[in-house]
Amino acid sequence: MSTPAAASTPAARSRPTSSVPPAAQPGGDGQELSTSRGTSAGPRPMLHGRRPGSEQLLVTLFIVLPTLALIAAVPFAWGWGLTWTDIGLAVFFYLLCGLGVTAGFHRYFTHRAFKANRALRIALAVAGSMAFQGSIITWVADHRRHHIFTDKEGDPHSPWLFGTSAAAVARGFWHAHLGWLFEKDKTNTYRFAPDLLSDPDIRRVNRQNVGWSTLSLTMPILLGGLISWSWWGGLTAFFWAGLVRVAALHHITWSTNSICHMIGNRPFTQRDRSTNFWPLAILSMGESWHNLHHADPTCARHGVRRGQVDMTARLIWIFEKFGWAHDVRWPSTRRLARVSTVQ
Ligand SMILES: [Zn+2]
Ligand SMILES: [Zn+2]
Repeated sequence: MSTPAAASTPAARSRPTSSVPPAAQPGGDGQELSTSRGTSAGPRPMLHGRRPGSEQLLVTLFIVLPTLALIAAVPFAWGWGLTWTDIGLAVFFYLLCGLGVTAGFHRYFTHRAFKANRALRIALAVAGSMAFQGSIITWVADHRRHHIFTDKEGDPHSPWLFGTSAAAVARGFWHAHLGWLFEKDKTNTYRFAPDLLSDPDIRRVNRQNVGWSTLSLTMPILLGGLISWSWWGGLTAFFWAGLVRVAALHHITWSTNSICHMIGNRPFTQRDRSTNFWPLAILSMGESWHNLHHADPTCARHGVRRGQVDMTARLIWIFEKFGWAHDVRWPSTRRLARVSTVQ
């Protein structure tokens, strides 16, 4: 596999420094930063520091290894090593980590689509941290930056940064899907996620990211081994519910950045290139209704039309029924009419 590590996007090279006030950021509420960096009303740079080589190696490993496992999975499935226990564990961990990212990292932490009690807040942060998608504060900062600069210079993963020729679009797809993860420049969390930096619970989960990632791979081994009462059962569970599951969720999540900014329709906003792409609605747990999401980022439901399956919204609804979540920003007819381009 060729390494795209040296790829440098125009966005990364030019490093725009225009500032967006926190109140205008998705999920931002204008609160001042209260970290060791002190308070500041001035514009902060978009980027802050670069990844060290060791961290870059880990990122590469955790992208390449699960993807290789996913490719190897198909021939393995015929013949040996796939049991109902493996399938059950893989689905369980896919949902746990996937919903941790969609309901937690994305709709709650990035966009504040609802309010959560402390236990739910920590549980969502932990579940998302088990998805091997980087630490929570980095994830949120990157994603808020994506919403502020969508499909323009400064967007960390737009497919439209290189032009519209066939070669440029192919390069854009690669960059949006996973090439951007190899960029060494780090999004400035002090600018894009000051609310999370000032939350001690979230800072702790963020620090423990390696531990949660390790648990995400060791739990399937333990459960697979115990259920089958064999070492072999632990090994096949590690392969299916560990590596293959991580890779599957990676590529579905990344498809929101690539496919859902390239293919599909735009019944809502046309300010950017985001699309609604129905074939991924179930696997992405509602995230592929991405055009609505860009039109109304703080909305707790992305699949707002009849028949648009949105598993994440259903989960948030359950949280609300249990009393763990409140002030949920459900879509209203008035809001939808405002953001709709098709009457
Ligand atoms: Zn997007
Ligand atoms: Zn978003």
